[in-house]
Amino acid sequence: MRLFLPILTALLALTLSARAETPGLSGLARLEPDRSAINVSATETGITLGLSQPVPFRAFLLDAPPRLVVDFREVDFTAAQADDFAHQGLLGALRWGKFRPGWSRMVAELTAPARIVSAEERTEAGSGRPPELHLVLAPVDAADFRTHDGAAQSALWDLPQPVPTGQPLIRQDGTRPLRVMLDPGHGGIDPGAEADGYSEAVLVLSFARELKEAMTRAGIEVGLTRDEDVFVPLEERITRAHAFRADLFLALHADALPEGQAMGATLYRFDDKASDSAARVLAERHDRSDLLAGVDLMGHDDAVAGVLMDLARTETQPRVVRLAQVLAGAIKGAGLRMHRHPVQAANFAVLRSPDIPSALVELGFLSSPVDRARLLDADWRAQMAAAITEGVLRWAKADAAEARLLRQ
Ligand SMILES: [Zn+2]
Repeated sequence: MRLFLPILTALLALTLSARAETPGLSGLARLEPDRSAINVSATETGITLGLSQPVPFRAFLLDAPPRLVVDFREVDFTAAQADDFAHQGLLGALRWGKFRPGWSRMVAELTAPARIVSAEERTEAGSGRPPELHLVLAPVDAADFRTHDGAAQSALWDLPQPVPTGQPLIRQDGTRPLRVMLDPGHGGIDPGAEADGYSEAVLVLSFARELKEAMTRAGIEVGLTRDEDVFVPLEERITRAHAFRADLFLALHADALPEGQAMGATLYRFDDKASDSAARVLAERHDRSDLLAGVDLMGHDDAVAGVLMDLARTETQPRVVRLAQVLAGAIKGAGLRMHRHPVQAANFAVLRSPDIPSALVELGFLSSPVDRARLLDADWRAQMAAAITEGVLRWAKADAAEARLLRQ
């Protein structure tokens, strides 16, 4: 596991964009590896992507750390490995994949501050040959990386909406069906942990669908933050939970941790002072998913919003503590293997919703062969889904009783 740079909330030097509007496209553009290459010279790093047909795209830079982001109308990248293009010239780690429905994204970490010298889609007129997307990067001084003041004209598409603070959610009291938002972690450009040919993103999505079924049978109304292999930024996951008017938010993960640290299911609840080192590694991993996927991490909270969130959290926090305990108890009660510290606190961005009790379930760790085998076992998953459903029902019953009591 690599050590990560601290995430700064400052925004982005940003540049530029080139855009090719091409009417009448049919089918998906494919990346053609034979016509694609990275060319490094003493002064520049050139990126050439051969495409089967023209696609609208735009390229821009993000800071903290410096990254190049290229968004495309959906491109099928399956013919090539992103790793083959990484770690050359100014390019560090590189990944690409589906970003949101209809759109793909490539994100490259930059080994040094850089500027985009040019970004264009080239088609030789009259040649009948398919186009090449050609990008050129050149290094700049760190100070110059920020000289383009991009905040006012962010080139980002479709930034996640800030969490709405208007309509307060009405606390559930047992008089209507419970609403639960399940949040399968990662997805699309961000596969999460990977081991033995399996990705966390795919495994937790199929578990989420199974859990949804189990919960629906128990009379719970269930939403999913994603129901396909697509990237959803962390803040957008919280936004979707609010839009769904969820009483409860459950993030589902199966991460990797260094050898020996991780085996068995673990329940995480939010605590911004959490200091456990494994929890910190996971928090960095989770929050870094957005970073690697090229999400602008500029904070939305101003001081007032911060205070309001703290107030809401004061009321929610005891409900969150109980939620984690009850869920852990139900999983243990079903005879399923748990981590030796089954309930832990962590500063995970996705659990920061102040008014919806939230927990993150590490179903097991993909890095552990034992856990991996369990995650792939349909019987084990059914038992886990039943245990979590049971825990949620138990929690909701006690929580509703408390709500009725408080109202008197
Ligand atoms: Zn994860």
